[in-house]
Amino acid sequence: MTRLVIIGGSDAGITAGLRARQLDPTTEVHLVVADDYPNFSICGIPYYVSGEVPDWHSMAHRSKNDLERAGLRLHLEERAIGIDVDARTVSTVSAAGEARAIGYDRLIIATGQCPTSRRSPGSTNSVQATGCICSTPWRHVCSDPDA
Ligand SMILES: Cc1cc2nc3c(=O)[nH]c(=O)nc-3n(C[C@H](O)[C@H](O)[C@H](O)COP(=O)(O)OP(=O)(O)OC[C@H]3O[C@@H](n4cnc5c(N)ncnc54)[C@H](O)[C@@H]3O)c2cc1C
Repeated sequence: MTRLVIIGGSDAGITAGLRARQLDPTTEVHLVVADDYPNFSICGIPYYVSGEVPDWHSMAHRSKNDLERAGLRLHLEERAIGIDVDARTVSTVSAAGEARAIGYDRLIIATGQCPTSRRSPGSTNSVQATGCICSTPWRHVCSDPDA
């Protein structure tokens, strides 16, 4: 039996976990998720802001129960803070400050991306000056560390 640890419980992490279980139902899938809202529909946020969706809690693609029924083991409000590749462990810390190490056979990192304030050439305002690491439209900007 393979133990798959996935860091991140949004679109990428959940999709990977569900697909792994689909391909091999014996796979033990652990999702380490920094927040308490796995599979949350980020794309639905504009509909909450516009008032079309009154309760943002209803915007999860799947409930925690749905995910657990599909065989995913959720470790919510637990942040990955380190990876020991040789020992095959992920170090985590919970919202309560408890630290632990989770062993893995396979590891997927699905933590999304963060904006960076790196300046793009020729930019004249703060919006243009902000690139995003790995975001496709900005990749040409970010690939040059001196840009
Ligand atoms: C307002 C808005 C509207 C959008 N609309 C659309 C749309 O209509 N169509 C579309 O295709 N895309 C849309 N997107 C983009 C889409 O939401 C993202 O592409 C998608 O969420 C990326 O998923 P991800 O799993 O890669 O990362 P994220 O959604 O960023 O998830 C990252 C996950 O990693 C976890 N995490 C991060 N760091 C750690 C850590 N150290 N330890 C543990 N867990 C960690 C987070 O808690 C989270 O669960 C929209 C985005 C926004 C903001």
